[in-house]
Amino acid sequence: MQPSVRIPSAPPSHVRVPPELEGLRRLAYNLYWTWHPKAKALFARINSAAWGHVHSPIPILTGMVDWPGLLDNPDFMTEAHRVIGDFDRYMENGADHWFHREYASELQGPIAYFCAEYGLHESLGIYSGGLGVLAGDHMKAASDMALPLVGVGLLYRSGYFRQTIDADGHQEHRYPTLELDRLPITRALGREGEPLTVTVELPGRDIKVDVWLVQVGRVPVLLLDTDNPVNDPSDRPITHILYVRGREMRLHQELILGIGGVRALRALGIAPAAWHLNEGHSAFLLAERARELVAAGQDLDAALETVARNSVFTIHTPVSAGNERFDADLVRRVAGPILDGDDRPNTGGVPVERVLEIGRGTDGDPGQFDMTAFSLRLTSGANAVSQLHAVTANATWRGVPKKDILAITNGVHTPSWTGGPIRELFERYLDADLDDLDSSTEAGRWWERLARIPNDELWEAHLRQKRELAVFARGRLRNQFARHGEAPKVLGELADVLDPAVLTIGFARRFATYKRSAMIFTDPARLARLVGDDERPLQIVFAGKAHPADRPGQSVIQDIFGRSRSADFRGRIFILEDYDIRIGRFLVQGVDVWLNNPRRPLEASGTSGMKAARNGVINLSVLDGWWDEGWTGDNGWAIGGREPLSDEAAQDWADAMDLYRLLESEVVPEYYERGDDELPTRWIERMKRSMATTLWQFSTTRMLHEYAEELYLPAAGIGVGDEVEVASG
Ligand SMILES: *Cc1c(COP(=O)(O)O)cnc(C)c1O
Repeated sequence: MQPSVRIPSAPPSHVRVPPELEGLRRLAYNLYWTWHPKAKALFARINSAAWGHVHSPIPILTGMVDWPGLLDNPDFMTEAHRVIGDFDRYMENGADHWFHREYASELQGPIAYFCAEYGLHESLGIYSGGLGVLAGDHMKAASDMALPLVGVGLLYRSGYFRQTIDADGHQEHRYPTLELDRLPITRALGREGEPLTVTVELPGRDIKVDVWLVQVGRVPVLLLDTDNPVNDPSDRPITHILYVRGREMRLHQELILGIGGVRALRALGIAPAAWHLNEGHSAFLLAERARELVAAGQDLDAALETVARNSVFTIHTPVSAGNERFDADLVRRVAGPILDGDDRPNTGGVPVERVLEIGRGTDGDPGQFDMTAFSLRLTSGANAVSQLHAVTANATWRGVPKKDILAITNGVHTPSWTGGPIRELFERYLDADLDDLDSSTEAGRWWERLARIPNDELWEAHLRQKRELAVFARGRLRNQFARHGEAPKVLGELADVLDPAVLTIGFARRFATYKRSAMIFTDPARLARLVGDDERPLQIVFAGKAHPADRPGQSVIQDIFGRSRSADFRGRIFILEDYDIRIGRFLVQGVDVWLNNPRRPLEASGTSGMKAARNGVINLSVLDGWWDEGWTGDNGWAIGGREPLSDEAAQDWADAMDLYRLLESEVVPEYYERGDDELPTRWIERMKRSMATTLWQFSTTRMLHEYAEELYLPAAGIGVGDEVEVASG
């Protein structure tokens, strides 16, 4: 088994570089550059002004470039050859990495990974939030450890949505169209070298689905796209919008993802050894594979069993209300023909009534098709995304007969989320290799040696990251307020906001109501005293989107925006528009405290706090999701306890009071306590604990070790950790 799957793709003709720098084009078409700072810096050097706007290489290479100047610049050429050499070596060589070393010889094919969204980089807006970012980090970590994997998703040409907030605090939605020739996306090529298109038979017509390729280091991700002119104009938008609101359109998307995804892999000659459904949106892939087996002569029951044996499923929501369900009649009408069969080839063999029966929810309602129940019943392994979530998920899905839902806690991809200044310290003092996290040797476990980083240097690196956030946020706020028609004087005042000397709290996430995003405003007068303290002030930066259909979530945004403009809070509390991976990166790297206060146990895992922790940012969070297992007592703070109060309002009040207590009696005093050296020594020790306890434990590397050993390899029929009898004497 090769350490990676190779998919041929059409070379982009519109990107031209001198032959001496041909490697730049290879590099631009591989998202490797997103987690390798030297590669980013190289592209930035080609045109630094343009880089400041576009933050991605292809627009740099296709724009105005002084190629003769660069070719004559020995300094640039040396650096270019070094970066391209590193990249080429990374791509060639995976055989010495953990997964490949241990298991690849036994694995007969790659892991196929299906997800409705991928958060790979801010320039590729085909994600909405946590699920997508997790999938993106999964791809990057699989690449780093040379785990043979191929991702499958949809190419949303209009993405999720771009958020602006108007002067009254209303969330506004925009759907810009992806400009494909400015993105590192190519057409995958079929076996004859033709741009690959597969067919999905929907009622009364054949939908043509174009297959695109995004290369993430060693890992290819296939993106399916119905916006092909041969399709009817009413079918072209099927894949346009992520989490599209209409149920019937959503069902169309999920049929394209599940069925089209299997067909794309087949057309490329890829035979996965195991199939991973990351959340239930792609569950029709199970029906499609059963259909293939029936068409090849198996009986239906045997086919379903075969499909289940090498499929695994990750569940992401704690409550059944959060899971995807469709009206059974809608499924009959839209999916019936392809499952039951009509006179077209590649249809038939899996009766839709049987599919509906397998997908009956825990309430037994025959009028609903539940994608989660369907996925749980047709896979051989399943996991929840934190220890606590596994408890909740097993309770919720008790009615679905199946073995335990395992706990595999989420992680984040360390090189993608660690700020430059902190990363430099890891490399300088700890010999850290961020491309190859390794907990198996003492030398590899560099996070255990954090004490070697001098306190003053860690604090200086942290302040640098705070300054980077301040500069970024001031620019964003100036644009926002200028659009609102604020006066030049008000805009001018923004030049001094977010002083890095002030204790800064970050709060960024989806504004779903259970996240209680406005909880810190429960007692506004008490918060105003904290924020306005002369000696020891506090400032807060919020960011987050609410789903376009989520009115209650949007009114929370309006509430926070209104308060941020009130006399008590203006200049100290802000809400940034259009939360995305880029804003997320600045925030998790550049605040002091990461606040999270969901209603326990509704947060399955959460990952933004993990990103913050590896930058030395300290978590202040309810004991929900990952923090329930991540909190050690000395690496951050826990809001509230583990015993729930009977009534929701009482719980909300109690948690808010505990948040104020912690801020007043612990967080603020510790932050402003300075020794003779002007350093907050106790705070810095807590930063180090925050990093040391999370760098491995909440990394995608640790997570992928568990996925591989507990789910992928068993699904591929490979025994893991089998005791080998060694004859002695
Ligand atoms: C990490 C991330 C998330 C998920 O974080 P949570 O802690 O689950 O809220 C969502 N959106 C973006 C842009 C992220 O980077």
